Amino acid sequence: MSNAFLSGGPGRSGGIAIEEADRRLASISLPARPLAVPLSLAHGRILARDARSDRPSPPFDRVCMDGYALRAGDVRAGAELAVRGVAKAGEPRRALAEGSGCMEVMTGSVLPEGCDAVVAVERTERISEDRVRILQESVGIGDNVHRMGRDRRSGDVVVASGTRLGPCEIAALASVGVVRPEVVDGWRIAVVSTGDELVAPDQVPLGHQIRQSNAWGVAALLERSGFGAPEVLHLSDEPVSLGRELSELSARVDLLVLSGGVSMGRFDLVPSTLEAIGVRNLLHGIAQQPGGPIWMGVLATGGVVAGLPGNPVSALVCLRRHVVPLLERSAGLAVSGRRVELACPLKRAKAKTRFVPVALDDEFRARPVHVDGSGDWAGLVGSDGFVQVGVGMDDVPVGTRLEYFPW
Ligand code: AMP
Ligand code: MG
Repeated sequence: MSNAFLSGGPGRSGGIAIEEADRRLASISLPARPLAVPLSLAHGRILARDARSDRPSPPFDRVCMDGYALRAGDVRAGAELAVRGVAKAGEPRRALAEGSGCMEVMTGSVLPEGCDAVVAVERTERISEDRVRILQESVGIGDNVHRMGRDRRSGDVVVASGTRLGPCEIAALASVGVVRPEVVDGWRIAVVSTGDELVAPDQVPLGHQIRQSNAWGVAALLERSGFGAPEVLHLSDEPVSLGRELSELSARVDLLVLSGGVSMGRFDLVPSTLEAIGVRNLLHGIAQQPGGPIWMGVLATGGVVAGLPGNPVSALVCLRRHVVPLLERSAGLAVSGRRVELACPLKRAKAKTRFVPVALDDEFRARPVHVDGSGDWAGLVGSDGFVQVGVGMDDVPVGTRLEYFPW
C-alpha cells in the first residue's frame, strides 16, 4: 500500500481552492434516517418532519387577565354588576344568563358563554360578596380575551422540518402533543482516531505517547450540532488491520469521521487504505490553513467518509467547516452563512484560505485568540469559533465582516 505522497496526496502547499471544495461537497448528502426520540432527549436535535397543531391555539376563547367576564355593552364608568359565580381555569365552559351581571374569571379560564370581554381585577372594586363596581368608563368587545384559533389553526405547521429544537420549539411540540418527535438522529456515525502514538485519555501516557483527544472534541461538536452521540474507536497505523477495520465500518455506518493519517508521512495510510477498499475520493487537500490535508470520499452505500488531519486544531476546524454543513444540509437545515465583524485587524494569507479562531466580545465582534499552530489544542480553549479569511495580499481592517463558524 502506498503512502499519501505516492497516491497523489495534497502536497505541502497544494490542494483545491475552497470554493471548489464547497462545490464538490454540495453535490453529496447523507441518506435520510429519521428517528423518533422522547421529547426529553430532543433538545438540540433537528426535526425531520413538520409538526402540526392538533387543535386550534388557543383551543377556546381564553381569558388572559384575572378579573370579571361580562358583556362589553353593560359597562359604563361606575356600573355595579352582580357577580354570578367563579369560572376557574381547568373547568368546562360556564354560561352567564342574559342581563345577569358578570362572572369572576382567572387567566386561563374559558370565557363564559354570554360574555364578550374581561375587565382586569385592578380596574374594579369588589363592594360585596356578590357585587362588583367597574372603574373603567368603557370596555371593548374582546378585551383581555385570547380568541380561539387566533395564533394557529388546527393542522398548521408549528415547527417545520429542518428546525433545530431549542427551548421554544420543545415547548411548541409539547403544546401540540408531539411527545416523540422524529429527528434526523438515525445516522450511524463512527469517529475513528488513527495513530500508534495515541492512548485513551484515562491512561497515563509514556513519554513518547499522547492522549487521543480529537474523538472527544469531534463527538462533542457533532452532538452539539444536533447529530447524536457517535461510536468512538481507535485504530492502529498498521495497514492490514486498518484496511480490515475500515472495510467493516464502511459497510455499516452513514458517516465515518477519521482523524489522523491523511497527510504525507510514511504512515499516513488512510487515503490509500480507503481507496483500496472502494471508497470514492471526492477531494484530497484544500488550499486552506489549518487542515490542508483533509480527505473526503463517498461510500458505495451513499455514506460519507471524512478524513480529518490529526492535528487537533485542524481536525476540529475541518469538521466544523466542511462536515457539519454537509450534515446540516442533509438534515434539511437552512445553512445560512453567518458573519461577524472583526474587532482588530488581521493579516490575510497569500495563497490559502485561513481560518482564524476567535472569541466574540460583548458586542459580538470577533477577537482572534492566540493559537500556536495546528497542534496547539490548548489555544482553542475559550474560543467561540473561527472566521474565514480569503486569499489575498492585503491586511483585513477592523470592522470587516467575515464568515463565521461557531463551534
Ligand atoms: P497525523 O495527521 O496522523 O500526521 O497527526 C498529526 C499530529 O496530530 C500528530 O502530532 C499526532 O500525534 C496528532 N494526533 C493525531 N491524532 C490525534 C488525536 N486523535 N488526538 C490528538 N492528537 C492527535
Ligand atoms: Mg498519524
